[in-house]
Amino acid sequence: MKRFVSNEVLQGRLNKGDDIIEGLTKVVTQNHIIAGMISAIGAVSKARIGYFNQYEKKYEEMEFNEPMEVLSLKGNISLKDDSTFLHLHVILSKSDYSVVGGHLYTGSLVYALEYQIIPFHGGYFKRKLDADTGLYLWEK
Ligand code: ZN
Repeated sequence: MKRFVSNEVLQGRLNKGDDIIEGLTKVVTQNHIIAGMISAIGAVSKARIGYFNQYEKKYEEMEFNEPMEVLSLKGNISLKDDSTFLHLHVILSKSDYSVVGGHLYTGSLVYALEYQIIPFHGGYFKRKLDADTGLYLWEK
């Protein structure tokens, strides 16, 4: 665990047609943020999400080519291979009000998205491959 300091929130929206991860990564890097948290709500025209198969230690991907509500997008900002890396999860609802969710991938396109980014100061986490889980986890 590390203790961070935060005293500001960046609030804004992405444009229709933006890729969620690319759009939010651009906001984060342009503002020189290397640690922090992200949340957002809105809608997507399509989404690509993943599920980590713990037995095989690999991600399975699923694409949903349909308009959906972004009920909750939540994630964090850290460094992976010395680059800014956004780890985002999302809960989406379909036209029949059923819900799907998972690890967010590029290929998820904005219809409308309102975000809040809280930058953390005083440190950062770096991701490193953890042999036990097969995941890129934060170094302690
Ligand atoms: Zn994830």
